[in-house]
Amino acid sequence: MSELQPHTSNKRLVVLGGGISGLGAAVLGAQKGYDVFLSDAGVLGPAFAKALQEQAISYESGGHTIENILNASLVVKSPGIPDNAALIIAIKTKGIEVVSEIEFAASFTDENIIAITGSNGKTTVTSLIDHILKVAQLDHTTGGNIGKSFAQQVAEGRSANRLLEVSSFQLDGISTFKPHIAIILNITPDHLDRYDYKFENYVASKMRITMNQDENDYLIYNADDQAITDSIKQLDIKAQLIPFSMERKLETGAFLHNHQIHIHTHNSTFTMPIEQLSIKGRHNTANAMAASTASKLLQIRKETIRQSLTSFEGVEHRLEKVLKINKVQYINDSKATNVNATYYALDSMEQPTVWIVGGVDKGNDYSQLYSLVNRNVKAIVCLGEDNSKIVEAFGNCVEHMVETTNMEDAVRVAYKLAQAGDTVLLSPACASFDLFKNYEDRGRQFKHAVRGL
Ligand code: ADP
Repeated sequence: MSELQPHTSNKRLVVLGGGISGLGAAVLGAQKGYDVFLSDAGVLGPAFAKALQEQAISYESGGHTIENILNASLVVKSPGIPDNAALIIAIKTKGIEVVSEIEFAASFTDENIIAITGSNGKTTVTSLIDHILKVAQLDHTTGGNIGKSFAQQVAEGRSANRLLEVSSFQLDGISTFKPHIAIILNITPDHLDRYDYKFENYVASKMRITMNQDENDYLIYNADDQAITDSIKQLDIKAQLIPFSMERKLETGAFLHNHQIHIHTHNSTFTMPIEQLSIKGRHNTANAMAASTASKLLQIRKETIRQSLTSFEGVEHRLEKVLKINKVQYINDSKATNVNATYYALDSMEQPTVWIVGGVDKGNDYSQLYSLVNRNVKAIVCLGEDNSKIVEAFGNCVEHMVETTNMEDAVRVAYKLAQAGDTVLLSPACASFDLFKNYEDRGRQFKHAVRGL
């Protein structure tokens, strides 16, 4: 098959940032005949440096040498570098095109792209579709924001279907990226520091996922999310619109009715009782609807989808059941780094809950959690360097509130506060880097402490 107008080869490609996506872009660029130079302001991981050396790709770390960058014909920028960085402004002022790694990778492929974005649930939905496609034995790769970068996967060879988790930062750097199926799960305030603190800019960034789609493509979107539905009304979207809703019946799309998921697409109907879903909670029912709608569009058999939704084991650190000790269930939701994610975690608690919360507050508004805390939470264990905002927000809501500054103490206190039949939930609503390396480290420390009880 012919390639879709690749970015011209035999030219100089500068890759900024030597993380997973940067390395992938460099490898793909070299494979496609570019003269590649990778530049990272920080320290390159030893494995990454070795991979670059093995492929004879030139690179620098610990700073950017401007003259070796401003002679690029194309720049691939890591999603971590903001558009207003002085270096990026200098590059753009010279008229050099700056794209994201998914844009670069997509320019070398005409394969079927299924791209998932949203503020919360991307990894869960991507992993769930991956599971369904595996059960269906459909040729595919899964990557992007999880696992391997898209560029790395394109460099490794062809595949009929490319399942990609994409972030708004990746979408900011696209120009031709065109998914056959795009999914927008939800848009709630996050990362606003990168969007001039304007929610509408962040929404616009997420909506870019559909900007190159045409009449043969599909946009699966959350019809209960007003930011999304308002944008859809304003934009001239070419893709076929397939909504999903937890709140109302739809003629086309997916909805919840009588405790069953219903999906109507192309004169075909799929139904499944929600109690058969392996992942629990309202948000996960919405995730399952989005994933099964995409799978139906990929012509996966209903029975295969049903079986997969029952057998999916969920993703680590997302409402992950750890252990039951003395009839108390311990749940790790360390990936809940914002209030919205924690909202759904608390919403799905069916037992009295000892809630471990805290970390680096990103300007959180906790008021939306009050009714859930009053309903489900019997005690709060604060886990952060500075817990004052949580103490202030919830001090009057619960009988017991204890402040801790390390995971072992937090788990020990939770253990003491919980009684048979309760749940201990780690769902921090905050970033982790005050006390932990990242949310994975936080989740692993939680599991380690629980197993050590
Ligand atoms: P992402 O990849 O977008 O960060 P994850 O699937 O990793 O999303 O989930 C992140 C957090 O959000 C977890 O705490 C998870 O339980 C919660 N979550 C998952 N799906 C949703 C959803 N549809 N709406 C709100 N929160 C969700």
